[in-house]
Amino acid sequence: MPTGTNPKISVVIATHNRRESLLRTLQTLFSQDLAPEIYEIVVVADGSTDGTAEALRKLPSPCALRVLEHPQGGISLARNEGIRAARGEIILILDDDLLCAPDLIRQHLAAHENAEPQVVIGAFPISPHSPRTLAAECYRQNARDWEARYARDSQLHWPHDAAVEPNTSIHKTILEKFGAFDESIPYQREDSEIGMRLWLKGAPFRYLPTAVAHHVVTKRTRDMISRDAVLYGKHDLLVARKFPEYRPFSAPARIAQGSWSMRITRRIFGALPFSPAGLISALLWPLEKLQRVNLFRRGGVKLLQYGSSAVAIRSAAREAGSWDKLRREFGLRLPVFMFHHIGDTPRPWVPGLSISPVDFERQIRWLARRGFKTIRSSDWLAWIRTGEPLPEKPILLTFDDAYADLARFALPVLLRYGFTGLVFVVTSHTGQSAQWGELAKYPFVKLMGPEEIRRWAREGIEFGAHSRSHHDLTRLPLGELKEEVTGSRKVLEDLLQIPIVAFAYPYGSCHVQVRAEAGRAFGLCFTVDEGMNNIGSNLHALRRTMILPGDRGWTLWSKSRWGFDPVARLLARLRRPIIKAFFGSTETPEAPHAT
Ligand SMILES: [Zn+2]
Repeated sequence: MPTGTNPKISVVIATHNRRESLLRTLQTLFSQDLAPEIYEIVVVADGSTDGTAEALRKLPSPCALRVLEHPQGGISLARNEGIRAARGEIILILDDDLLCAPDLIRQHLAAHENAEPQVVIGAFPISPHSPRTLAAECYRQNARDWEARYARDSQLHWPHDAAVEPNTSIHKTILEKFGAFDESIPYQREDSEIGMRLWLKGAPFRYLPTAVAHHVVTKRTRDMISRDAVLYGKHDLLVARKFPEYRPFSAPARIAQGSWSMRITRRIFGALPFSPAGLISALLWPLEKLQRVNLFRRGGVKLLQYGSSAVAIRSAAREAGSWDKLRREFGLRLPVFMFHHIGDTPRPWVPGLSISPVDFERQIRWLARRGFKTIRSSDWLAWIRTGEPLPEKPILLTFDDAYADLARFALPVLLRYGFTGLVFVVTSHTGQSAQWGELAKYPFVKLMGPEEIRRWAREGIEFGAHSRSHHDLTRLPLGELKEEVTGSRKVLEDLLQIPIVAFAYPYGSCHVQVRAEAGRAFGLCFTVDEGMNNIGSNLHALRRTMILPGDRGWTLWSKSRWGFDPVARLLARLRRPIIKAFFGSTETPEAPHAT
């Protein structure tokens, strides 16, 4: 056993009552293809009672093998003990259930040589020696998904890859500077907590596919449901609170995402007075026994994944204090209503673009009576980014094109009901008329002027940009696109002397490049695609629902709850072939559309 000079790299392994698995891992570490004095192994027995420490102390080792014992305190605490004791400049975090390739340590060491302090993530495939369990199959599935995602652009991505999982080496100065594992997260998500912290602090992450350690998954399927999923849910909530940037990707955020049936299922499981873990484990048992049959194996893995997610969400709800508290913190869904002209319908005019003052007031009263509270777009952004509380039933009311009649027939009504609204301004046409598309045919319909805009902004109405001249942005060359987007923000910011957060795409028309450009200039960008928005929605393609003259009762209810009216959508779908037969196209002359 070499002593004297410090090793260059220290392997740190935390273990709890897995003596046989650990001894197998150590054998692969003893047969590394580099000089034993270059590395050391530090094993921390975390409350092991299976004779691990005694067995290791008797174990002949070619390299320095140091054994620390610690009352059980969790993997984070044990790893920190090991890191503190480590003498190497590079820390290689391994687990006690790995089969390490003979060049594993050399690969990690080479990656750090002559490089800035960094975090190096090695390859972590599932070992074919893993027992045939649904747990192992689930890990295999996740590893395949990861490889496929990495293969797409060979980039590590936030937050999925911001993790210090086993087979990760870190330069010690990074841990000294930004801290090691968070001991308040003893197991499950501890790897993501430290990974996100180092990532957000700017530590460089690198994937090293040539540093291979095979993971022998010995975990029992029922432990994945009844222990890991419970801890995952609880700790993922804590991590999302610690790093708000992670909120949209967190497990709790899923309660507002996915199909209606998925959301309902999560709600049922999440609000259960008892843990569904036992029930799910019972359902998994026969599938695990029959997993040689492809269908049962795939079904079992799906059930294990959904079951884990349901148990995790229930655990997060308990940590938050209740399902409703969790929903308020992560699961709000935001309807965004889109209006255009409010006032007496000009004649002639584009059908469906005008709502009469009486109609509008009735629609606003309907919302107020059902407990909706309007928010500003910056409130939504603050909730997403920091969890800043929002009202129980938030709604965003938007008004495109900034028609002058809003000042007479809409904005006063909003204020009377204690509401606010977001008016999208076409900055080169303020105080004039709409000079774009078919609206150019109606020069008598005026738009708000700069003074009116300033006055209503003082009254608490929010203003956003709707480009400079309302061109279809997807048809513009890059230079003009930038001018239309950023230029409109600048004009409005100069006018109001406040930061402008929101943008609405003219005609709702946008593609990847337009969204990228708008996303550079604005926090939130709105389309005209129907639907609801949640914490995971693309902030540069937010959904809105057009409110039409006569919308009331069921229509308002469904648009405020789902972001569209399923009955109207069904009727439109049924009508389309008939219209096509008559007009040769699916567009009838009077069909209302966003401008
Ligand atoms: Zn418009």
